[in-house]
Amino acid sequence: MKLRKVTAASAVLLALSVTATACGGDKDDTSSGDGKKITIGIKFDQPGIGQKTPQGYSGFDVDVATYVAKKLGYSADQIEWKESKSADRETMLKRGDVDFIAASYSITPERQKLVDFAGPYLLAHQDVLVRADDDSIKTASDLNNKKLCSVTGSTSAQNVKDKLAPKAQLQEYPTYSACLTGLQNKAIDALTTDDSILAGYAAQAQFKGKFKLGGLKMTNENYGIGVKKGSDLKAKINKALEDMVADKSWQQAVDKNFGPAGYKNEPAPKIGDIKS
Ligand code: GLU
Repeated sequence: MKLRKVTAASAVLLALSVTATACGGDKDDTSSGDGKKITIGIKFDQPGIGQKTPQGYSGFDVDVATYVAKKLGYSADQIEWKESKSADRETMLKRGDVDFIAASYSITPERQKLVDFAGPYLLAHQDVLVRADDDSIKTASDLNNKKLCSVTGSTSAQNVKDKLAPKAQLQEYPTYSACLTGLQNKAIDALTTDDSILAGYAAQAQFKGKFKLGGLKMTNENYGIGVKKGSDLKAKINKALEDMVADKSWQQAVDKNFGPAGYKNEPAPKIGDIKS
């Protein structure tokens, strides 16, 4: 989206854009055939959802975003992936750093004041991850007075403070993966965020058998694809998401990405059906 097709008039602009974007990105921007590309924000540290590995990018959000990009006219090698940490998403969209964001991004009334959302394309629920031998957390209120870890700018941290467990000792980190070491060495008692994300961590080889999910289903998290406010991409992305469910690609992406972690997801939500 940032680069235009090569015409005599835009050749100079193209050359400038390529130089400018090549500085920030970690991908060779000149690789695609006609020079156009789309920039998509995802998480880099959430296995099963959005993850950057030495082999490339993977996860449910990556597959949804790749499908959507294709419907918008961009092949996989025309995508530039950018990390969108929870606290940075609205700003990245407003500034135009990315064309859209698929990063475990819950649709909320507060965020809808700043950005627009296509979707929802997944319904998750806030849960806790605890050490495998800990049976002390059975309800949200059991989190009060516990050492809890979550992420700045997330609904997970906000919900704890607003309603779930206002007396919890909440530590806010920039990413969820940063909480995992603390959980392992008992610096924290629990990590709280969406069950879809926690299932991916619990299934990671280095944590196998060490952690478990509480299964608390404390909230509804309606994952949407964020776009700049007023963008005409919203309608196009909604259409792509409908196609993805209809042609079974959505279910295939679910099986591929959530299957290994044993995450039992909700059925595909209808576009515009936001569960409160
Ligand atoms: N889905 C929640 C949110 O959008 C938590 C996960 C995240 O931080 O990405 O805030």
